[in-house]
Amino acid sequence: MNRDTNKVAIVTGASRGIGAAIAERLAADGFTVVINYAGGAADAETLVAKIEAAGGKAIPAQADVSDANAVARMFDAAQAAFGGVDVLVNNAGIMKVARLAECDDALFDSQVAVNLKGSFNTLREASRRLREGGRIINLSSSVVGLYHPNYAVYAATKAGVEAMTHVLAKELRGRNITVNAVAPGPTATALFLDANTPESIERLTKLAPLERLGRPEDIAAAVAFLSGPDGAWINGQVLRANGGII
Ligand code: NDP
Repeated sequence: MNRDTNKVAIVTGASRGIGAAIAERLAADGFTVVINYAGGAADAETLVAKIEAAGGKAIPAQADVSDANAVARMFDAAQAAFGGVDVLVNNAGIMKVARLAECDDALFDSQVAVNLKGSFNTLREASRRLREGGRIINLSSSVVGLYHPNYAVYAATKAGVEAMTHVLAKELRGRNITVNAVAPGPTATALFLDANTPESIERLTKLAPLERLGRPEDIAAAVAFLSGPDGAWINGQVLRANGGII
């Protein structure tokens, strides 16, 4: 099943959840995968071992994406180990929900730091360093469009990520690099399940015409499409992967 692409992909926030599914899928598709994480070293090591046991290639890379120097060091390490980077999947993210009137500064600052500044940090390195023919995939969210109450700050950070997606796709003209975003709907991971009550999980599960929550593998399939040969002509787009919610 492994297609050896000789290509290298950095997946941020890949120790668990959607990022881990993306890393596993890209490894199965033949990419050498850099498994970035902030605190989850044990999870990242376990995933690397799982990928290697399946015949793939992966290394763990600790870096808080909100720290520009740490992100630059991660790209340095990937280039030193594998000679270059072809794909960036900007997946690391946090979600804290509250009515805007109840949001404290920490809620605002932390989400801007990880989701928006973190994406900026990795996009800046990728736009300087990605090899010809590269791919960038940013994780947005279908709340950009749905605009449910309680999501003002989170949606604002993801709207910013979509804006950078559109601009960078144009700035990379001439290098054969595509820049797209995947915008999941509710997906069964810690980020979603921890932020919701059982009642709201039930309500959100029914929202999609397909009547289930997204699975990390559903989102990984969309990212794999944009990372691989079939996605070559898609550029500057936001692909909503949400079972039809919006
Ligand atoms: P999880 O909370 O399950 O996983 C988040 C991952 O991001 C972990 O691997 C975590 O690693 C990592 N991470 C968190 N902060 C940092 C940081 N500062 N630097 C580096 N890595 C970090 O989230 P999901 O898998 O659910 O979400 C993945 C992406 O998908 C996010 O961008 C999210 O906004 C988006 N999304 C998710 C939806 C959902 O319903 N689940 C819906 C729409 C979008 P560690 O613990 O090691 O720090």
